[in-house]
Amino acid sequence: MRKYVIMGVQGSGKGTQAKLLATDLDLVHIGVGDIFRWNVQHHTKLGAQVQRALAAGALVEDELVESVVRDRLALHDWNYGFVIDGFPRNARQAEFFLEGYDIDGVIVLELPDEEVHRRVLGRRLCSRCGLDYNLAAGGEDGGGTCEACGGELVARPDDSPEALAARLADYYEKTRPIIELFERKEFVVHVDATRSVEEVQAQIRTRFDLPPPSGRAEP
Ligand SMILES: [Zn+2]
Repeated sequence: MRKYVIMGVQGSGKGTQAKLLATDLDLVHIGVGDIFRWNVQHHTKLGAQVQRALAAGALVEDELVESVVRDRLALHDWNYGFVIDGFPRNARQAEFFLEGYDIDGVIVLELPDEEVHRRVLGRRLCSRCGLDYNLAAGGEDGGGTCEACGGELVARPDDSPEALAARLADYYEKTRPIIELFERKEFVVHVDATRSVEEVQAQIRTRFDLPPPSGRAEP
């Protein structure tokens, strides 16, 4: 059984790295943001609570985040373990988590602020089919239309410079300190997230002494 927490500022690729790790090692990926988004899209009671918080320009409150994580973990469908992203976000949540679960390691994706801005403010979403784009990554023509369906590409409303600045401030104020808390009790690995997706994943595996990704021929 392997239990990991993956942390990093927005745009650091937490979700992507968590999914890569989870798929290969048969871990369950628990993305708190994904759970919230799903509930908003499906108009659940939880989704309404999340939307209310976001509309007020606030973060989803601790109790709500904790109950979502507790309920998700209570499903006990994680026979081989889990990798959780988007949680914990503050010291209180970290304590709640450390009390209940024996974590094997904490992965911290490190990304300088300039790169966070470049990545997050370059994100676009097709207004018709929902496909994600990133202008910072290059690749598409930059014409502002979706290659798949021709729909207009728009920035997500929560990707404004103001919203990003608020989230960054929140991250440094509340989340960074829990990394220090983890460092006293857990095995914490800092990874350079400016590298490519494959390189970041390889660094994580090397540091945790995990097998290299399967489904790909190794040189
Ligand atoms: Zn589209």
